[in-house]
Formats: sequence, C-alpha cells, structure tokens
Amino acid sequence: MRRKDREAPFRSECLRIIGPSEQVSEMVQSNPVDRVFLFSIDLEDIRRLLPDGDRYAERVPSNTSRILEFLSNQRARCTFFTVGDIARRYPSLIREIISEGHEIACHSNDHLPLDRHTPESFREDLKACKDSFAAAGAEHVMGFRAPIGSLIESTRWAFEVLREEGFRYSSSVCAAKNPLYGWPDFGPDRPCQRDGIWELPMSLTQWPGLNVPFAGGIYLRVLPFFLIQALFKRRVAKGEPVVGYLHPYDIDFEQERFMHPEINDSQFYNSLLYWNRRGVFRRLRRLLKDGTQIVSYREYLDQLEGATDA
Ligand SMILES: [Zn+2]
Repeated sequence: MRRKDREAPFRSECLRIIGPSEQVSEMVQSNPVDRVFLFSIDLEDIRRLLPDGDRYAERVPSNTSRILEFLSNQRARCTFFTVGDIARRYPSLIREIISEGHEIACHSNDHLPLDRHTPESFREDLKACKDSFAAAGAEHVMGFRAPIGSLIESTRWAFEVLREEGFRYSSSVCAAKNPLYGWPDFGPDRPCQRDGIWELPMSLTQWPGLNVPFAGGIYLRVLPFFLIQALFKRRVAKGEPVVGYLHPYDIDFEQERFMHPEINDSQFYNSLLYWNRRGVFRRLRRLLKDGTQIVSYREYLDQLEGATDA
C-alpha cells in the first residue's frame, strides 16, 4: 500500500476536527508529526497513596534517573505528568527533568480522581499543583492527566475548568469500558478537541471485549510483545500517534512487595503490577527501532497546529 493511502484515516480525522479546507488538507497530508510515540511518565509516588506508605523505601528519584538516562540515550523528549506533591518534595528532580528538555505537566495536586472533586475543588487542586510547580521552577504548564483515567462522561466538566485555568490539552481519557474508569462513548481514541481543550486519549487495542491501553504501564509489560508491536506499527503507519504512559514503579524490579492502591484489592492485578519490570526498556527500544520518535505532548501539538494553521 502506498504511504499516501496509509495516512488517509488520520487526514480525515484532522479534517473532522478543523473543518474542510483544501489548503488544510494539503498541509495535513504532508503531516510533520509522523511516526510519533507520545510516551509519558505519570510521575507519582505510589507510597503516598498507601496508609502506611512511609515504611517502604523511597524509589522515585532513582527510578526517574533511570528513565532520564533511557530518554537521553534515545535522544527523546517526553512529558512528565507530575503530581504536585512530587514537586514539593523533589524540586531538584523537577529542575533536572526540565534541564534535559522534557515537559512538566499536571497529574493533579494529590492524585484524587475527578469523581471525588467538584468543579470548584478541582480548580483549587489545579492551582495548588501549579503553585508547587512554579516554586520548583516549572512555569507555563499546559497539560493535564486525570488520576486513574478518571475523566469520564460524568466528569466531563473538567474540560471547561481546564480551559478556564489556561490549560491547552488533556491526556486523560480511556475511550472504552474499563474496570476502574472508562468512557466508552467518547469516540475514536485519536487526538480531538473537546470543550476547547485538546484530548489525547490512550491508544487502545480495539479487540472485541478487550480494549486496553497497549502502550501503557501494566499492558506494555504484560501483553505479548508481538501483539504490541503489530498494534504500534499499524497505528504509526496510519500517521496516528501512539499514546502511552509509565509510572516510575513500572521499571522498578527492586521495589518491595505490597498491595497497590486503586486496583479494587485484586491479588491477581497486584501480581501483574510486578510482572516483567525488567523488560520495559528493552521493549521500548525495540518499538523505537523503526524510527518512531518519542516527543513531548506540547511539541506534538505545536507541530499539529502548525500543520493545520499554515
Ligand atoms: Zn497516576
């Protein structure tokens, strides 16, 4: 199949977003945001979500250093969706992330899911998070990721609050049924605008009965690699970005064993949370071998909007 034909679905999606225009059609056709992996880090300390978390060893700084080293070796810049608490406790880590060219975005102030907020308390949460970022040297924060993918139909008001608070984009939605949160009626899992905010939803497997984020955390570690690779290749061949994420613990094979929060006390799911942590970087390197680039979400939107505005 010719490359031009393979890119057609993404072009038509962009046109759906921005409206029909011959000029725009041409610009998106020569889309400069090709072969993109919107890899990201959800920078949080899992211990803070446990009632007795302080009894476990501190792991975030060393895990983040390993992630930074991996990104440096890949000559990649990515987005760190960071909880406000991390900026307060590790301001030098925030400065290091920024100094290496990565983007700091907001992953809430204290990792409270959106359905436990009102619009007013969410607004205060965003402000507190931004204040902590500013104190650590992170200004002009424009991205947001809801804790546990909790931006769903009933919390859709979050888009309006984000827009009013000066955010440009969110990457929060799991556009499928999910044991925790999910928004099955969201529409395709592709970048689109909702209520004045770009949403970059998680890339999903699209298998009947199993719609999971194949490039994210536990799924990136547990699913057979050949399946992940096939899904990955198919998506980038169409000119669509792959959206994925890791937590610091996803690469941590020395972390103590404990029951992770927010998994409905499932022993099975908890065992998967420790599965194949040693293999993550190897999998990522293999996925990037074909020239796919990790770029920050901000950079991706700059290029996407540049292509459609020109
Ligand atoms: Zn999180």
